[in-house]
Amino acid sequence: MDGNHGIVSVRNLSVYYGAIPALEHINLEVQEGEYLGIIGPNGGGKSTLLKTIIGIVPRAEGSVTLFGEKPEKGRRLTGYVPQISAVDKQFPITVSEVVLTGCLKPKLRLFARYSKQEKEFADSLIEKVGLTKLANRQVSQLSGGEFQKMLIARALAVRPKLLLLDEPTASVDAASREQIYALLAELNKEMTIIIVTHDLLAVSAQVTRLACLNRTLIYHGEPELNEHVVNSLYGCPVDLIAHGVPHRVLKEHDEKEGGGLC
Ligand code: ADP
Ligand code: MG
Repeated sequence: MDGNHGIVSVRNLSVYYGAIPALEHINLEVQEGEYLGIIGPNGGGKSTLLKTIIGIVPRAEGSVTLFGEKPEKGRRLTGYVPQISAVDKQFPITVSEVVLTGCLKPKLRLFARYSKQEKEFADSLIEKVGLTKLANRQVSQLSGGEFQKMLIARALAVRPKLLLLDEPTASVDAASREQIYALLAELNKEMTIIIVTHDLLAVSAQVTRLACLNRTLIYHGEPELNEHVVNSLYGCPVDLIAHGVPHRVLKEHDEKEGGGLC
């Protein structure tokens, strides 16, 4: 890398929860227009990395910039789809209302009214994710796929230049998964995307870069993994193969193409 900052620039980042390290010495640059996939085992720090990028988890060491600014500033251009277990599905609120909360400016207070333009914009986002018929439905009545689409619409309400998604296809049916990936491919024409996923099939078909995280960044490069990387990441490639990894991801080991290891 030269001295230029990417859209996201993570330098020597370490994050601790108490005495326990969640991330250690992470260096990662994400350039405009990239579609970065982050994979890794549970507890590997994937969610922590996204949260640190938008400044909602404190750094112990190192720096993060978003659009060349501190995360707290740069995140105004960033849409965030949190991991679903972190969201209360029982909250008594409709799809339309959830998407509108994404339009709320930080300065607006309780009882602030949404403008007609904001409502129309929210409707257009609901349409974009294919939920128009469900706009007035309570979120507790949504399927996993519908819920994720709603969260994507909400994240788009800030008119982001960067979209972060934390496992947006977990507990989602096959049809919705396809729709979500088609939507993300479309959105990537207008914005940079970082997606955390266990969905390696989608990773091979969609992303332009891949990062493998298990407390440290084990790999960052082309979305093709050789056996050595997979071994370091999961410790058990057989497990991965059992989940149906396509050849493009689990590439045969080739000495000449082993680059990109961190
Ligand atoms: P991933 O998203 O890859 O599953 P996480 O970023 O959620 O991983 O977690 C990384 C590590 O940090 C795990 O060991 C997890 O238990 C721990 N951790 C995550 N959030 C907290 C928290 N709020 N308090 C304490 N430990 C946490
Ligand atoms: Mg997670």
